[in-house]
Amino acid sequence: MSAEADNTASPDALTSLTPIQRKTLQALRRSGEPLVFDEGLVADIRTEMRVALDHFAARLDDGQDLFVTKHRIASVLDCEAHFLAPDEFEWTPATAKGQIAHRAIQLLLGWRGEPSPTDLVDEAMARLADEDRGIGIWIATLDKGDEADTRGLSTERVTKFVESFPPLDRRANPVTEAAAQWPVSGPILLRARVDLMIGRPSGNESRKVIIDLKTGRVGPRHRQDLGFYALVETLVRGVPPRKLATFYLDAGEAQTEDVSERLLRTAVRRTLDGINAMVELGAEGRPPVKRPGSSCRWCPLAEGCDEGQAHLATFDTH
Ligand code: SF4
Repeated sequence: MSAEADNTASPDALTSLTPIQRKTLQALRRSGEPLVFDEGLVADIRTEMRVALDHFAARLDDGQDLFVTKHRIASVLDCEAHFLAPDEFEWTPATAKGQIAHRAIQLLLGWRGEPSPTDLVDEAMARLADEDRGIGIWIATLDKGDEADTRGLSTERVTKFVESFPPLDRRANPVTEAAAQWPVSGPILLRARVDLMIGRPSGNESRKVIIDLKTGRVGPRHRQDLGFYALVETLVRGVPPRKLATFYLDAGEAQTEDVSERLLRTAVRRTLDGINAMVELGAEGRPPVKRPGSSCRWCPLAEGCDEGQAHLATFDTH
């Protein structure tokens, strides 16, 4: 799929696509006039963020660092008690399938011929295991059962991707796990890692499409996560992306949103609200506020949390 050239895709190329691939292409394609944001807007956003980060940095303890990711912002704005709870993350076949699938899709982008999802997942797992760090250490020590489970879950995800997306044209610079950080150094760093980014830069024209791959249900947080990605991309490259999409693999459907000044300014506000809460909790000792919600379902504090239990009880009766 070429994010730029898709308007001129030949009839032959279109008829070789499956209905779901055509639907995806339709959802992500460029339409209308080229989108060019005012350079003054980008400069304004950068200045606002720089001034705010300097202000927050002055409130941190000496030597204290703050990494700001979409997950940490969403978590602190959801329930602060949960945000401060010890991180109980561990690799399992279910938590590993996303990263393995993204690596497999990355291999697909450069692979000659038509590899099967199984080939891609096998190669991705072998390469990750060779890296001897993070998820690789976990993969290298899997027993046969967990290895088979992980391979199966990852292959399912890659298969859904291949069936849903048109072949990705290399001229459109498709990249998986695209990392970005802003600023280059300092005590507070914004970090993003985008599942899939498509679009070749051209001057000040906004061409990139940022895509988050999800399984499961649609949630309001997904759109907000993408707003953070759009903000970091704008800060780093100086050109906002054109479109944001959450692609729901189980449903084979993309939910998209065009990037606008309002979307970027909303992302600035939400990001600064999140950082402010992190500074207050982490450096200034403010007690956390409990906000029962959907995160109670996987909160490690739920058993001893009255507010969480009350929320879960209501949830169970619906
Ligand atoms: S159970 Fe819910 S309200 Fe209680 S700490 Fe966890 S997320 Fe917050």
